[in-house]
Amino acid sequence: MNETHTILMDELEAGEAAIDLDDKEPAEVLAWSIEKFGNRLGICSSFQAEGCALIDMAWRIDPSVRVFTIDTGRQPNETYELIDRIRDRYGIEIEAFIPDSGAMERMVKRHGPNLFYRDVNLRLLCCQLRKVLPLRRALLNFDAWVTGLRRDQWATRSNLRKLEIDHDHGGIVKISPMADWNEEEVWDYIRANDVPYNTLYDQGYKSIGCAPCTRALKPGEDARSGRWWWETGAPKECGMHCAIETGGFEHELSALLGGNGEDAVAAAQG
Ligand code: SF4
Repeated sequence: MNETHTILMDELEAGEAAIDLDDKEPAEVLAWSIEKFGNRLGICSSFQAEGCALIDMAWRIDPSVRVFTIDTGRQPNETYELIDRIRDRYGIEIEAFIPDSGAMERMVKRHGPNLFYRDVNLRLLCCQLRKVLPLRRALLNFDAWVTGLRRDQWATRSNLRKLEIDHDHGGIVKISPMADWNEEEVWDYIRANDVPYNTLYDQGYKSIGCAPCTRALKPGEDARSGRWWWETGAPKECGMHCAIETGGFEHELSALLGGNGEDAVAAAQG
């Protein structure tokens, strides 16, 4: 547990809150979260549809709500344009956390910029350096974080609770107000409230991450099929929301991180 965290919940308290919140609407879950955690709460968004809707809901409750993002440096320009539109629309600052520049330089030098296409372990290595470790650093600034995860997005998310202790990140609280919403409910909210959204959705994208690792869907494909579509048998996850241990990339990760590598790897894996 990190000493920077000040508002903590134990398992019993979190379990009771999760039961209370389970049948609540996303806006109600957000209102409770803002009341409980104040400026120690951060909405984490990669500016997919769910995140945009959550920002809109939270801003209506508290215009000073904190929003943060992990800027991998490889996102589509449409995502960066959306960030500007959201800043203009709501008048909010978006706290951006970026990968370690030294590790990035070493990774690209050793493996090239598009390493992820060659091997699943290199893809997970890139995700660790560009997403997982910056998230780890970001969460030192918060006691609770809000995600746009939904249970029906992928098998690894089917048991998601609206509130849980995040053991991968120092025991802070992880809140997923839209856990029981489906895609249609998210888009109904966006249309009803004229929420800015990523224009890539209008081009057939269903799930939007980094540009080289995301594509539009073909008819009938599963929503996550557009992510790392060249991989077979690998999780459609990057490690931000569940620890991934393959035994394949950790050694290389440690080498790229230099002297603090082992600590950073341990931190990344909670
Ligand atoms: S999604 Fe692709 S580019 Fe982005 S961090 Fe993961 S492997 Fe790297």
